[in-house]
Amino acid sequence: ALEAREIHQSFGELTVLHGVSLRVQPGEVVAVTGPSGSGKSTLLHLLGGLDVPDSGEIWWAGERADILDTQARALRRAGRVGLVFQHHYLLEDLNVLDNVMIPCRLAGQGDTSRAHALLSRVGLSGREKSMPEVLSGGERQRVAVARALASGPAVVLADEPTGSLDRANATTVAALLVALAREEGAGVLLVTHDERLAGYADRALHLLDGRFTEEAPVYG
Ligand code: ATP
Ligand code: MG
Repeated sequence: ALEAREIHQSFGELTVLHGVSLRVQPGEVVAVTGPSGSGKSTLLHLLGGLDVPDSGEIWWAGERADILDTQARALRRAGRVGLVFQHHYLLEDLNVLDNVMIPCRLAGQGDTSRAHALLSRVGLSGREKSMPEVLSGGERQRVAVARALASGPAVVLADEPTGSLDRANATTVAALLVALAREEGAGVLLVTHDERLAGYADRALHLLDGRFTEEAPVYG
């Protein structure tokens, strides 16, 4: 579903990623852990095509992403990669349904039935016309989860998706993300500091000194 080969990334003198490779298969949940500043968010931005690496290759569903120009990459991302961040990034002047439809419309999918079904799955049926500002933090993040899956992506990249939520909401949002991704056959790459969240993963990758250390099994 998603593959990275020998990713290198530096910012000036600072080398953050020093040859990182990974593969996320359809339906697989992979956790990424590592100290603050180890490059987890940098890696997710590169995997999601929001930036391009200094060197290395990023593949989305069998197509190389890092060599596309910015606009082509954004369009391709809309159909193939879902993104969830700590601070949701809902567009404040679009209602809930239109937020969920953003990646679909970019990917040329106008049908709203999937978006309605996903909103129902995250417990937000009937809130389609609500504006983001009236939603709670947990509700906003559930909209972000529905949006990440709306276009039927091969993989969802989530960077501390529950970092701004209290425990109960964090558990709900994480469980929904993982359950929906598994139902849809999408892979998930989940950056988290939360050991309970890492427990949802099939395996964990630990980023240290610019590389992944040995893969450790996860007992959830
Ligand atoms: P955290 O767990 O705190 O979120 P992280 O593992 O996500 O940390 P990154 O945000 O990827 O870490 O940052 C890795 C390093 O790269 C940090 O030292 C950061 O200051 C640096 N860095 C990230 N983005 C840039 C940038 N655009 N320009 C310069 N330095 C950057
Ligand atoms: Mg980070």
